[in-house]
Amino acid sequence: MKFLVSDIILIFLQACEQKHQPIKMTLMENTEAKNNPYYSRTDTAKLNISNEEWKKILAPDLYAIAREAATERAFTGKYNEFDEIGEYYCAVCGNHLFRSTSKFSSSCGWPSFFEADKEGVYYKRDQSYGMDRVEVLCKRCDSHLGHVFDDGPKPTGLRYCMNSISLEFAPDTQK
Ligand SMILES: [Zn+2]
Repeated sequence: MKFLVSDIILIFLQACEQKHQPIKMTLMENTEAKNNPYYSRTDTAKLNISNEEWKKILAPDLYAIAREAATERAFTGKYNEFDEIGEYYCAVCGNHLFRSTSKFSSSCGWPSFFEADKEGVYYKRDQSYGMDRVEVLCKRCDSHLGHVFDDGPKPTGLRYCMNSISLEFAPDTQK
């Protein structure tokens, strides 16, 4: 099911409170490209890979969030307090998701953006845990990224509340 921005605004306002059990964080870095044949920052072809296959490829912490919709503990993510200039990609498949200019400082404990790449994400209503939220997923690999709320800043009024682990940052200086 797809949601338009106007639909998102209608969704009942929810705080960035997440009731998932926090998963145990490991010291493993995100698996950018390493042993991941599906990772590409240029190929936008839709992927249809089973979780069984992803489990063999992704680090356990990334697998838990991206494929099982777990949530990293608030204030623990590497991009929570991070303001470098560059692009954010899906840590699972390399799809472009956000530009740093849409990132803003939020007190909720997760990296927050007011706008996503329209070609990068899609939305699903998520009524788990007794809440009515809008889940944000990667358009290329269907991985869970986080949720979007309607209490963000102008110009969109949206707050994309993301898991750092689901993101890979590339600074402009690497271009
Ligand atoms: Zn992806």
